Amino acid sequence: KKVANRYLKREVLGEGTYGVVYKAIDTKTGMTVAIKKIRLGKQKEGVNFTALREIKLLKELKDPNIIELIDAFPHKGNLHLVFEFMETDLEAVIRDRNIFLSPADIKSFLQMTLKGLAFCHRKWVLHRDMKPNNLLIGSKGQLKLADFGLARIFGSPDRKFTHQVFARWYRAPELLFGTKQYGPGVDVWAAACIFAELLLRRPFLQGSSDIDQLGKIFAAFGTPKHSQWPDMLYLPDYVEYQYVPAPPLRSLFPMASDDALDLLSKMFTYDPTARISVQQALEHRYFSSAPLPTDPHKLPRPA
Ligand code: ADP
Repeated sequence: KKVANRYLKREVLGEGTYGVVYKAIDTKTGMTVAIKKIRLGKQKEGVNFTALREIKLLKELKDPNIIELIDAFPHKGNLHLVFEFMETDLEAVIRDRNIFLSPADIKSFLQMTLKGLAFCHRKWVLHRDMKPNNLLIGSKGQLKLADFGLARIFGSPDRKFTHQVFARWYRAPELLFGTKQYGPGVDVWAAACIFAELLLRRPFLQGSSDIDQLGKIFAAFGTPKHSQWPDMLYLPDYVEYQYVPAPPLRSLFPMASDDALDLLSKMFTYDPTARISVQQALEHRYFSSAPLPTDPHKLPRPA
């Protein structure tokens, strides 16, 4: 039952966006790995060709906060991607009611998320599908970003347009307005949603449709003024919304520190060209002021 003469299949871990993920043992290294089996659809040949070239690039992306792509090979009409195996993910941590997250723990999770993003943004790779269950957590508490670059290579089987590959709740307003020229700011917005979710212990902006998602964003931050986001009017799906004033951010996050709120508001900037970059966010005083981020191996995790 060895795959590619190297991997011993174990149990199925779950079904993801692109196909089944199963646990396996890498007989070459003895390491436990996760293998993602990607069904190659109709445009098989085309996807095969570009995908394999792009995947070669992903294999070069090595950073302590990125899931390593160990191997990639076609097998029986499926593309197999081999990743390092991770114990759990941030969604499980956030959802676990037995876990108390201190301000220092939250800072540590956000810092690791931004470090992984910063590395990829420096290489001009966007994640485009950031959400808590894509932030995997290893046995020593290290957080690593999964599925980097896959959104661009494979798109999404059940979503037609590339600007809709995001989990809606984490989608930046420019994407909801149909922009085609998005940049690293989309990952910053998603990271801000995850930061908010760590503070609130529930998803922050839970829209039930794309229109409703914008409504939720506007209810939280007020409808964007033209002076705040001059290019908004020219976006493909722009529609004028009824004016909503912004409530004080403090009222939405009563437990957050002033530094946390200041960083959060800079990450939730409407105009993507004015939004804080990942690198700037890492240099924000939130990360250097007390309490310092918890050491990864001391972070709480599900039992
Ligand atoms: P989605 O596309 O919905 O984000 P994935 O394809 O990433 O889902 O993952 C499907 C399942 O496989 C999930 O339950 C996830 O926890 C598990 N999984 C994915 N990657 C890994 C990994 N590197 N180590 C352990 N489990 C993983």
